[in-house]
Amino acid sequence: METSSNNSRRAFLKTSAMASTLLLSGISAFSNLLKGSESSEEATHRVTSFSTGFDQDPLPYGYNALEPVIDATTMEIHYSKHAAAYSKNLKEAAIAEKVNMQASLEEVMATISNYSMKMRNNGGGHYNHEMFWKCMQPARSNNQPDGLLLAAIEKQFGSFENFKTSFSEAAKTRFGSGWAWLYTNPSGELKIGSTANQDNPLMNIPSVEHKGFPLLCLDVWEHAYYLKYQNRRIEYIQNWWNLVNWSYVEKRFLAGK
Ligand code: MN
Repeated sequence: METSSNNSRRAFLKTSAMASTLLLSGISAFSNLLKGSESSEEATHRVTSFSTGFDQDPLPYGYNALEPVIDATTMEIHYSKHAAAYSKNLKEAAIAEKVNMQASLEEVMATISNYSMKMRNNGGGHYNHEMFWKCMQPARSNNQPDGLLLAAIEKQFGSFENFKTSFSEAAKTRFGSGWAWLYTNPSGELKIGSTANQDNPLMNIPSVEHKGFPLLCLDVWEHAYYLKYQNRRIEYIQNWWNLVNWSYVEKRFLAGK
């Protein structure tokens, strides 16, 4: 909905010689997404703290590092074929649709309704996988968050076990291909949700029911687990909890607060 405050902010930004292109697009993107419920400074901080480029970052560990939960062949195909294709196709779409690839991908996600389905599928595909790799580390037992993130999870979901159950349910019940998410909504509350295909909570489209700043994601496309688990998505989800890099998730949580 157009409001006079949006219009006056836009007018101000237009005339502000000091405002950088990044700041402009970051503010407008996130004010759309967050519907003005937080300050522009906070929204822009989210963009710059965890900005994602258009190329793949190196995988933060070897292909075999997540064994035995995720096998090396799955990781190699997933990173070097599936995810690489999303990045390649995203860059093609960005050239065709004149997107500034020096800016962050978060800005494109928050205004994705302006772009093609190719941008949506491959931009989401690239963003989600870049985040997914960083949300994992070699397996550890009794793996759980601590500090402020654990406190926030316990406050919102009652206990860490309750949270795991609800998140696992979201991942299990996502029909077909998609993702499960822990995210903060525009009011700053922790929420669990899921998206279809390569959509994510940053996207400003009605079919994304769960909108906000993503903290943790789980890929439940069959390509993520089929070689080892075949149809056993539930077993993949149960084992995956041992891989979660909670210190990375907490960094996102603190940046997004
Ligand atoms: Mn995937």
